[in-house]
Amino acid sequence: MNLNVEIQEVVRRLLDVPANYKVIFLAGGGLGEFAAVPLNLISRTGTADYVVTGAWSAKAAKEAKKYGKVNLVLPPTDRYVDIPDQSTWNLDPNASYVHICTNETIHGVEFDFIPDTKGVPLVADMSSNIMSKKVDVSKFGVIYAGAQKNIGTSGVALVIVREDLLNQALPICPSLLDWTANFKANSIQNTPPMFAIYIMGRVLQWIERQGGLDEMASRATKKASLIYNIIEESNGFYYAPVAKNVRSKMNIPFRIGSPGNEALEKEFLKGAEALGLIQLKGHRDVGGIRASTYNAVTLEEVEALADYMKDFYKKHAN
Ligand code: PLP
Repeated sequence: MNLNVEIQEVVRRLLDVPANYKVIFLAGGGLGEFAAVPLNLISRTGTADYVVTGAWSAKAAKEAKKYGKVNLVLPPTDRYVDIPDQSTWNLDPNASYVHICTNETIHGVEFDFIPDTKGVPLVADMSSNIMSKKVDVSKFGVIYAGAQKNIGTSGVALVIVREDLLNQALPICPSLLDWTANFKANSIQNTPPMFAIYIMGRVLQWIERQGGLDEMASRATKKASLIYNIIEESNGFYYAPVAKNVRSKMNIPFRIGSPGNEALEKEFLKGAEALGLIQLKGHRDVGGIRASTYNAVTLEEVEALADYMKDFYKKHAN
């Protein structure tokens, strides 16, 4: 119990969480919250807006359809490389909430703005960029994140919910996913994934000791710029498909050539692995290469990748 409260306090300090928001820890990770969001909120009007900017928000929308009507705010696509201007969005003023994914882990598309949803509660999946920079929590109704990218290990989700959005869960909402029941029980309604919560607490304390979210943001910018600059300066040898203003600072997908020379990419990955640069293969939906530069990845590690990319370019360009 003490540990749980202590970790809630670190979350509050780091994100400057306003007093009218509750911080809860739930088993089930990000996918659990894909269901929890509609189960806790869609009863307001029976319908919800989803801004689909990549594979994860698409999955969230699909899950929500089980519990109510889902309005897709953007025209459907399977090529996620930008975020259309908000003036073109098809928002429903009657929606229970508007859902976004602030960083698409697979496609490398990251919001560079907080949408104005005209009073409709904004719900954000921040699984892969939470605690990588400051965010104005008061602009959101709900923020949630599976812990395993930037703040810990798998199995637990951090949920920050505005008080007035509690007490509206659908009657079919399992107790396990009911934010109100979990808040009332101080996140220990049942036996919680305590080890995952403990690790999350240790990681959050580490972030505080490093200088907090401004320091994480400055590191993220340095690390991501290093890789994007090499891509930009390679005259098309490396190719990043995502529009510059929404390029993720956490996940950098790129190809060698366009549409992508698979043989050369295979060679790139093999050479990288020999140097201890692992987990660089792009997600199967996207192909190519993906460098993830989460909080735990050091500048030195990213520099090692940058050096390798430069060497590989010299050997293979032309
Ligand atoms: N949302 C995003 C943005 C993700 O990257 C992931 C992936 O791990 C999820 C949701 C799903 O989270 P989990 O694996 O904890 O269910």
